[in-house]
Amino acid sequence: MTVDVHLFSVGHCRNSAWFVESGPFFQQLHLPAMVAVIRHPEAGVILFDTGYGKPLVQASSLPARLYRALLPFHVKEEDSIPYHLWSLGLSMDDISTIFLSHFHPDHIGSLKELPAVPILHSQIGLTTLARYTPLQRARAAFFPELLPDDFPTRAQAIEGLPRVELAEEWRPFTEAFDVIGDQSLLAISLPGHAVGQYGLLCRRANNRYVFLVADAAWTRRNITELALPGFPAGVLIGDSADFRDTLRKLHEFHKRRPEVPLVPSHCQQSIASFSHE
Ligand SMILES: [Zn+2]
Repeated sequence: MTVDVHLFSVGHCRNSAWFVESGPFFQQLHLPAMVAVIRHPEAGVILFDTGYGKPLVQASSLPARLYRALLPFHVKEEDSIPYHLWSLGLSMDDISTIFLSHFHPDHIGSLKELPAVPILHSQIGLTTLARYTPLQRARAAFFPELLPDDFPTRAQAIEGLPRVELAEEWRPFTEAFDVIGDQSLLAISLPGHAVGQYGLLCRRANNRYVFLVADAAWTRRNITELALPGFPAGVLIGDSADFRDTLRKLHEFHKRRPEVPLVPSHCQQSIASFSHE
């Protein structure tokens, strides 16, 4: 089977092109927080991430307040998930699953407002964060208060899904987890930016695909030109060996299969060109 994919932003922030892709320091980039609404004919609506949101705006812990002060963001009413669903003729009740690429606040910021459906998440990511001290969690930008109270009963590990070997055409990626069971949605490990981060390869009608790569890259330029984030963003988040290894894989994949759109969650250009395809 195939899926329909619609990309929206649930809030945005702005940052220097230098931090994001070693671009001009004074050039400000508009960085949306992408949410994908994925429709499967039998499995219903799957959300890929949840963007910013009121729960993040209202989070009161010191780390959350510091985050808002250091990385200010904006969320308008028409940026909300219910509004985007409504634009597609859907409602919150249609959501069957929420897939989290990783636990950063701009990806789980609306989670508390979403209905009681299964939440697919990285077990490696959660186990690592659970072992951290409060200070380490704050440094990793993980704010447990953004998880709903019933998270433990709704949580399902991506690593518990059926594991599939990928065909030669997806090299250098070799394996994935099958989200629905028909290989229409494949979770592919993209570690580095966050421990246990996953992207989602979506099979669409007419043998077309889209690969949602979360924060494995922030912009298209990170992938196409291997433009690494500048200091200090590179040191804080994007300078680990895993991050560079994952980015190199995406770069290689893009060179092999330029027809497959790779969409980083904060790349306005990639989101717009996919939406106008
Ligand atoms: Zn992130």
